[in-house]
Amino acid sequence: FSRLKAGLSRSAGQLGGNITAVFKKRRLDDEALEELEELLIQADLGVAVAGRVTQRLAKEKFDKDVTDAEIRAALAEEVTEILSPLARPLEIGDARPHVVLVVGVNGTGKTTTIGKLAEKFRHADNKVVLAAGDTFRAAAIEQLQIWGERTGAAVVSSKVGADAAGLAFDALQKAKAEGADVLLIDTAGRLQNKADLMAELQKINRVLKKLVPEAPHTVLLTLDATTGQNALRQVEVFREMADVSGLVMTKLDGTARGGVLVAVAEKFGLPVHFIGVGEGADDLQPFAAEDFARALVG
Ligand code: GDP
Repeated sequence: FSRLKAGLSRSAGQLGGNITAVFKKRRLDDEALEELEELLIQADLGVAVAGRVTQRLAKEKFDKDVTDAEIRAALAEEVTEILSPLARPLEIGDARPHVVLVVGVNGTGKTTTIGKLAEKFRHADNKVVLAAGDTFRAAAIEQLQIWGERTGAAVVSSKVGADAAGLAFDALQKAKAEGADVLLIDTAGRLQNKADLMAELQKINRVLKKLVPEAPHTVLLTLDATTGQNALRQVEVFREMADVSGLVMTKLDGTARGGVLVAVAEKFGLPVHFIGVGEGADDLQPFAAEDFARALVG
């Protein structure tokens, strides 16, 4: 929680600070409401959420004096209400291996999140296999191998340029043969070539289903909190390409822009499983709506 709070409050333009600056003690008239709405939109919460928060406040307090503490409390409550139903742990059910496909734009934290997940599963005494499915980048393959060494997970990899779907197939075969509990599959995130990426993700899906009809059981989309409003577009694009079942929001330790998670949640209603709060193996936290709301509001 402290890492999250430190991250979200990093920038001087942080939401809570702004609210305090504008609303030390003030009558909640039209002008004040408009300023508040603008602040919330600037904090990436989205127009819909900004509208809801200001309406909620207006209903209770219009033309009365309000303090910044009251505004923050109302905001935290609204954000908690939006996010609570979506804060869901990642369940791996009974099927073995449970197959997790991780998708997202390059640099959003796919490989790192897979490493952190491998660490979590290992702590729960689960046997983990990793598939280095971002076959376009040598660095991604190497990085996953390092995570494999670090966490004791077996890594299935191939040369740069190899067929990602073939690799995913081999990895699932190995995970089945070895009785693994979880298979985590990395993928390429080259959005600049959307048609190719879509074809690749669909092919991975097809070959996995040849071995295990229900696979992938989970499709995680990683979003980088520092990209602000771009995250919304990324959800749209990746939902066209894959059957995204849940989200991981990364880099919340390094940004004051976590507000976009509220906009994403409100717009798409996808479960949020984890948040990334650093680069280390332990820096993946289960998503907790109220903690997040408190950290965001400051
Ligand atoms: P990929 O291209 O989607 O696989 O992204 P990577 O996993 O390679 O991550 C890109 C960069 O972001 C790396 O330098 C990671 O260490 C860093 N990173 C990933 N998650 C987090 C996070 O939660 N916090 C911070 N501060 N950095 C992160």
